[in-house]
Amino acid sequence: MRDVEAYKTIKVPLWVYENAKEVELTLLRKGFSHIPPEVLQPQSCPICNSELKLTKGRNEYLHCDHCGYTQQFFEPAKGAPEGVMLGTAIGMGLVYFLNRLYRRVNGEK
Ligand SMILES: [Zn+2]
Repeated sequence: MRDVEAYKTIKVPLWVYENAKEVELTLLRKGFSHIPPEVLQPQSCPICNSELKLTKGRNEYLHCDHCGYTQQFFEPAKGAPEGVMLGTAIGMGLVYFLNRLYRRVNGEK
């Protein structure tokens, strides 16, 4: 499997950076309790609706063997760990966005 914990560099406009920092700080302050389970620990892939499998690295991840989608498995009980950083905040925001873009109604595929 690919090394999903490898780092990539991206360049974003200042407003995007500032919004990401705001999300990061709010996650650290409020924890994960207000974030829905389909974002923290989804059962199925938001893109193709296939089953997600748990894999381990330094963190735990959910991976779709069908389309390759991967996201971190977030433990809501732990709240926001000290390791939550800007990249995690951005990643969680993109999981929200993918859920919204591919939203299914009543089990639709
Ligand atoms: Zn998938």
